[in-house]
Amino acid sequence: EGTDAAGGSTPRRIYGIETEYGITCALPAGAPGAAISADDAARYLFRKVVAWGRSSNVFLPNGARLYLDVGSHPEYASAECDDLRQLVANDRAGELILDRMTEDANVLLAAEEVPGTIHLFKNNLDSAGNSYGCHENYLIRRRRDFQAVGEALVGYFVTRQILTGAGHIRPRPGGGATYAFSQRADQMWDAMSSATTRSRPVINTRDEPHADAEHYRRMHVIAGDTSVAETTTMLKVGMTDLLLGMIEDPAAGSGSVRDLALAEPMRAIREISRDLTATTAVELSDGRRVSALEYQSEIHERVRAWIDESGFTLSSSQERVVDLWERGLEALRTQDYDAVSTELDWAIKYRLIERYRAKHTLAWDDPRVARLSLAYHDISARHGLARPLAARGLMARVTTDDEVEAATNEPPATTRAALRGRFVAAAQARRRDITVDWVHLKLNDSAHRTVALKDPFSPVDERVEALLEAVEEPA
Ligand code: ATP
Ligand code: MG
Ligand code: MG
Repeated sequence: EGTDAAGGSTPRRIYGIETEYGITCALPAGAPGAAISADDAARYLFRKVVAWGRSSNVFLPNGARLYLDVGSHPEYASAECDDLRQLVANDRAGELILDRMTEDANVLLAAEEVPGTIHLFKNNLDSAGNSYGCHENYLIRRRRDFQAVGEALVGYFVTRQILTGAGHIRPRPGGGATYAFSQRADQMWDAMSSATTRSRPVINTRDEPHADAEHYRRMHVIAGDTSVAETTTMLKVGMTDLLLGMIEDPAAGSGSVRDLALAEPMRAIREISRDLTATTAVELSDGRRVSALEYQSEIHERVRAWIDESGFTLSSSQERVVDLWERGLEALRTQDYDAVSTELDWAIKYRLIERYRAKHTLAWDDPRVARLSLAYHDISARHGLARPLAARGLMARVTTDDEVEAATNEPPATTRAALRGRFVAAAQARRRDITVDWVHLKLNDSAHRTVALKDPFSPVDERVEALLEAVEEPA
């Protein structure tokens, strides 16, 4: 067979991104006294949410979840998506929502004469060394050989930082600092495990599919850096989706990656992060030694071949993913980072800092360099660098501002999130009390039973239509 391939698009998949934001309250330079703690800042941030949702854990009309656990970082979990551009828009919408909440919180601070300004960061490490994550979720088919496939996938997640890392100014033990691929690399402690907080695994195996458990698992990836550039978010989810598609295709199967398990993934993740040439060799389970660049090139080639042999027609975002994936590897091969310095976070930030360092003759460990680096991750439309960089053509986009604005209110139209979003919006408009999670919708104080939406692929459901009618009935 082969040449008369079935064609069509790659298999549909549900994915979502959870982002924990860094938060701090900063005083103006030289101001006396101390600013409020991160915990207190987070409480100011969520005050309005708690006022309307009566909780700091709410689902939004755009299908996403916004929450603040005790003693933790503000988190936005995107709605379930089945398209890359849709996902980038929903994720960026979270940023916009949180930026507006930050502006409101800063007005509150001023009104109460509390000194300082709250900032939110899309990064993974604060100045005190606390780490917080960006989790990717992928719906995958339940399979017996999950452990074996998982080991190869760990190798993929450990090495992909050379493309999707956010860039990190890493203090050198003997003094000074250097630039590394990933903030998260030094914070990971385990390859696969069911616990997130204690062992911080690359893949979390906790079995909570938020879907029909007989057929599906939700693969929960903890290892990635939070992405600032839309193109980096698109690449990281897009390449993973394609790789999973290949593994799940019986024609390619798990045999297509089995040989790629790493001997010592936790050692590899640290070594790879520190080597911007991506040439340091790490050991595979079968004893072969390959560099991160060779490893990722191998995966890229296999996925490319699978796409060609299957005759898939890629979406324009997927075309962009395959192209950027290839150019990212080429940039590393030639050590000409400029080829991707508007698209990959680590390269965008690297160029930004190198220009600044050259202009002012600064070392990597200069506090001014640290401040510039932090500003790259500041989500504020006023203080952050993403907006000016994009305006000057130094950071590529996937979405438009209008799309992101729309995604603050509108759920993805093609997944279960559409039902949840409509339900939440209707309940808000009518001031009805509801209980919602990823699977369930319930109108409180009514005769209606809880509706369970077990199929994340489906944006239509008659039971939800009935529920929506009930919301509209005068209580
Ligand atoms: P917590 O972070 O509180 O430990 P959690 O990891 O289960 O819990 P949430 O923060 O609630 O997750 O986020 C769940 C993420 O998974 C969201 O981004 C959501 O869009 C996504 N998601 C929901 N259902 C599925 C599914 N069936 N398959 C893949 N992703 C899903
Ligand atoms: Mg979460
Ligand atoms: Mg999670």
